[in-house]
Amino acid sequence: MTDCLFCRIVKGEIPAKKVYEDEHSLAFEDIDPQAPTHVLVVSKKHVRGLKEAQKEDAELIGRLHLVAAEIGRQRGIEDGYRTVLNVGPKSGQSVFHIHVHLIGGRPMKWPPG
Ligand code: AMP
Ligand code: ZN
Repeated sequence: MTDCLFCRIVKGEIPAKKVYEDEHSLAFEDIDPQAPTHVLVVSKKHVRGLKEAQKEDAELIGRLHLVAAEIGRQRGIEDGYRTVLNVGPKSGQSVFHIHVHLIGGRPMKWPPG
């Protein structure tokens, strides 16, 4: 999708601080980090969000989380991080292209706001 921010980052049209890339996903630093580690793991395929995902996207959704886990391992934050998928505008979803937030490197509160 040409007007989608994350599709444009995936295509290299908009710069991002990449931390990981494979055939299915791209991970980069969030522009407005909420913690010492705040990485977005985005699908290379445009899927609008979790509620729009189809059965054929199941593996992709799993892959995004496993990439987040690998980055958490590399960053040495396995004593506590969070993976977050915001779904819909009331959750705070602002970019409608599926992505997993990896947030860590500081204590996390529960429940999340
Ligand atoms: P969400 O609110 O779950 O849709 O998450 C979107 C995230 O994208 C927010 O945390 C933003 O700070 C982040 N973001 C927006 N624009 C950019 C950008 N150009 N590069 C990196 N992160 C971005
Ligand atoms: Zn997109």
